[in-house]
Amino acid sequence: MALNVIMLGPPGAGKGTQAERFAHGRGIPKISTGEILRRAVEEGTEIGVRVKATMDRGELVNDELISGIVRERLEKADARSGFILDGFPRTVAQAEALDLMIGDRGSLLVIDIVVPETELVRRLASRMICADCGANAGEAAEPGLALADANTHPDHCRRCGGQLVQRADDTNGVVRERLKVYHCQTEPLVEYYRRRPTFRSVDGAQSPDNVAADLATAVDSAHLVAMAPGGGVPR
Ligand code: ADP
Repeated sequence: MALNVIMLGPPGAGKGTQAERFAHGRGIPKISTGEILRRAVEEGTEIGVRVKATMDRGELVNDELISGIVRERLEKADARSGFILDGFPRTVAQAEALDLMIGDRGSLLVIDIVVPETELVRRLASRMICADCGANAGEAAEPGLALADANTHPDHCRRCGGQLVQRADDTNGVVRERLKVYHCQTEPLVEYYRRRPTFRSVDGAQSPDNVAADLATAVDSAHLVAMAPGGGVPR
């Protein structure tokens, strides 16, 4: 049965890094709405032009627009056997749209990455990404490489060698706005999903390797429940 994974958790929880590792390890695509939108802004597409100011303010883009992007992406062949979504859904309206997209594709496995607020602010203020390929500086070039290896070439991306820069929306005021938006609009999703038998929480305030191990265990246990007769219902 398809491995349909979504990750909840505040900005800075490590969702992107963990999703990348998990996707690579399981041979499924990682679909990051933040990356898709940042690429659209960089390329100056029609969507990019529409969302730039909203993203720069740290606010969420329109539910229908982002749900449409995800719907199209999930229809591609590589997502048939599963996917891990990073950054979607972020509102209850998006979660409802996703339930419709999933339809009879199996159950959603929902992983909530939990990190205390003080740790989030610290992480976001020092986060760097690659100007060329968009990789997070903390992401290992190959799964299994320790985060500490990032210190060997601190100015350059280990995936493509590009220059590392601070994300436009990682500056102080915008970080606070993104955390506020998270509490108001995205945290209610935990309640939306919590009662499902395929919901799991993972402690995100550990080393990346330990979070990855706990994430794998959580997904596998939720997947087992989903495969049991009637297990994944209600989705
Ligand atoms: P973070 O690292 O803060 O979790 P992302 O990289 O996922 O942020 O997203 C960056 C920005 O892109 C968000 O602040 C928001 O403006 C926009 N965005 C990404 N995903 C969504 C979504 N599902 N709904 C609305 N806006 C989104």
